[in-house]
Amino acid sequence: MAYLEVHGIETFYGDSHILFDLSLEVAEGEVVCLLGRNGAGKTTTLKSIIGLVPPRSGRITLHGQSLTGLAPFRVARLGIGYVPEERRIFGNLTVHENLEVARRTWSDGAGGGWTAERVFELFPHLASLRGRPAGRLSGGEQQMLTIARTLMGDPSLLLLDEPSEGLAPLVVEMLAAQLARLKSTGLTMLVAEQNIHFVSELGDRVYILEKGMVRYRGTMREFVGNEEIRRAHLAV
Ligand code: ATP
Repeated sequence: MAYLEVHGIETFYGDSHILFDLSLEVAEGEVVCLLGRNGAGKTTTLKSIIGLVPPRSGRITLHGQSLTGLAPFRVARLGIGYVPEERRIFGNLTVHENLEVARRTWSDGAGGGWTAERVFELFPHLASLRGRPAGRLSGGEQQMLTIARTLMGDPSLLLLDEPSEGLAPLVVEMLAAQLARLKSTGLTMLVAEQNIHFVSELGDRVYILEKGMVRYRGTMREFVGNEEIRRAHLAV
């Protein structure tokens, strides 16, 4: 059974029909990439899953449990962490404080699996910045912190919206390496991206969206090896 299953969703903004009969699956431990040009519907797909823009029809399940009609905070509590395109950090708080305010505490007072210390072990560079106000971090460091904050909510599935956007090439390389480390912990991820190079090592499978529809699905290996498909569907 797929861990996340999106089946035939139709999503609208008001009267604008954006996603058409869109289906995708993510298996446990897998990293799936959602590729496509600007405006293809990647962000809308992630927002449909998290419940920010609920699909008008179709079905979304996490581990067999329906997410239909659930408010975003409930979807988050079921274990989906969402890292939006715009980085949401508190600029006046330190790196460590940003992590602590995002920490999930269960209703019985117990903490979840992720602590600031565990995040710092995984991302040593963030550890070296722990006392620095987040507003003074570079773009790449802020992206790392945004991802790290989301981990503090103990997700079992991470949705990432164009994490490499606006970052310098060297920083993109670093971020890719850090996400690879995260993948090695077994975390399942769905990553929307335009930068194929960024995800080509990380991703297991690919979906290409065009005008709100899935135009191609395959393994990353097939996709990377097929220049025709890359040319036909993406501006590369
Ligand atoms: P990008 O890389 O630009 O974020 P994307 O693939 O994530 O692209 P979406 O943001 O999902 O694409 O946009 C899909 C379509 O929905 C686009 O045509 C866009 O103009 C439209 N759209 C996005 N947000 C809204 C909104 N709030 N209201 C109306 N239309 C929207």
